[in-house]
Amino acid sequence: MRVLVINCGSSSFKYRLFEMETEATLAKGLVERIGAPGTTLKHQATGKDPYQAECKGSDHTAAMTAVLEVLTDPQWGVLKSVEEIAAVGHRIVHGGERFSRSVLVDEDVIQYIAALSELAPLHNPPHIMGIRACQRVLPGVPMAVVFDTAFHQEMPPEAFMYAIPYELYEKYGIRRYGFHGTSHKYVATRAAELMGRPLAELKIITCHLGNGSSVAAVKGGRSIDTSMGFTPLEGLVMGTRSGDIDPAVVPFLMNKEGLTAEQVINGLFNKQSGVLGVSGLSHDFRDLEDAAADPVKPHRRARLALEMFAYRLRKYIGAYFVAMGGLDALVFTAGIGENSYEMRARVCRGLECLGIILDGERNRVRGVEAEIGAPESRVRIFAIPTNEELLIARETADLIAGDSRAAASAAVRAKKTEF
Ligand code: ADP
Repeated sequence: MRVLVINCGSSSFKYRLFEMETEATLAKGLVERIGAPGTTLKHQATGKDPYQAECKGSDHTAAMTAVLEVLTDPQWGVLKSVEEIAAVGHRIVHGGERFSRSVLVDEDVIQYIAALSELAPLHNPPHIMGIRACQRVLPGVPMAVVFDTAFHQEMPPEAFMYAIPYELYEKYGIRRYGFHGTSHKYVATRAAELMGRPLAELKIITCHLGNGSSVAAVKGGRSIDTSMGFTPLEGLVMGTRSGDIDPAVVPFLMNKEGLTAEQVINGLFNKQSGVLGVSGLSHDFRDLEDAAADPVKPHRRARLALEMFAYRLRKYIGAYFVAMGGLDALVFTAGIGENSYEMRARVCRGLECLGIILDGERNRVRGVEAEIGAPESRVRIFAIPTNEELLIARETADLIAGDSRAAASAAVRAKKTEF
C-alpha cells in the first residue's frame, strides 16, 4: 500500500510518499511560495537526482496537481499512475478535545477542524486548504487526519486544567492541549522497541527539542502530561518563544512599552524571546554553542541562554519523574535533541540524583539513533530521530485497513440479515 503524507501550511506544503510494506520513503518534496509569483516545487525520489521546477497556477490545488505530475513522471517520479496512491494522511495541528486519535476525513470532520481555527488560526485553515486540494485532485481516495494534539488528549484533568474559573474552560475550551504529539508518540514507541519491552509497561520522558520544544510524560503508552498548553507558547524555553512566564508581565509591558496584547504575545513572546531574546545573538543552537565556547571571548549571554534552556527542561524532567512515580527511559529528539550532544550533556548534568547518567563517549553522536546512557545509568537514555511523517502514514494505513475490515464485516452482517 502506498500512502501520501501531506503537511500543509498557508504558503507551502511538504509531502512524502511511503511504501507501507517496507515503510520506505519512495519520494518526498516541498512546494513553496504558493499564492505568490514563482511557486516552486522541490522533489526527490529515493535513489534519483533532485528535481526543481516552477509550478503553473497559484493555489494549493495547482501545487498538488504539480506534485502528482512529478510523482508519475517517467524520469523523476516513482508511480505509473496516481491510482497507486491508496490513501492520503494529513498532519493537523489542532484537534481540540474531540479527537484523541486519528480519523478518516468526512465533511463533519472538516467542519470541526475549521471550527477549531479560533484555537489554531495559523495552522488549521491551511490544513483544510490541503484537504480540499487533495479531494479535488484525488477524488475518491480515502484520507485520514492525524492531530498534533491527539496523543495528549488522555491527560488527566489535574494535568490539563488551568486553575482559573471552571466556567471559562466550559465556555471557551481554555485548557492545556499540548502539541508535537505525533513526534512524542513516535519516539516513545521506538524507545520501547529498542528496549525490547512493551510500551504499556514503561515510563518514558520524551524531549522534542526543535525550533519549538516540548517535553512529555508517557506512562504506559499514554501522554499524562506535557509542557505546551493552550498554545505552543507555554513550557520550555524555545528558539524564539519565552515558554512559561508570569501572565502579569503582559499588562505591565503593554503599559510601559505602549504595546497591544497581540504585540506582546505574538511579537515579543513568540518571535523575539527564548534563546534569541536572552542571547541577543541567534535562535540557532549551533551559533550559541559556538559563541559560548569562543576561546578568546566567550559570549556570556549565549551561555546564559543555553543554561536557561537546559535548566527549564531539567525542572520538567524532575516534575515528570514524580508525576509518573519513576522513569525507565529519557528520549531526546528533533533538531536540537537529535544533533546537539552539547545540549544533551547540559540537560543531564545534575540529573544523576534521579539515576540519569549520560555516557560522555556514546553521547557524541549527531543525527543518528543511539543509546547514550552510561552502563550504570538506572534510566536508559536515547537519541532518536523523529519521524512524524511515518507515524502519520502508519495511522492512515491502519485506518484504511480498519475501514475495509469494518466494511467487510458490515457486508457479512448485511448478508446474514438478508436471510
Ligand atoms: P522545527 O521545529 O522547525 O521542525 P527542527 O526540529 O528541525 O525544527 O530543529 C531546528 C533547530 O535544531 C535549529 O534551530 C537548530 O538550533 C537546531 N540544530 C540543528 N542541528 C544542530 C546541531 N548540529 N547542533 C545544535 N543544534 C542544532
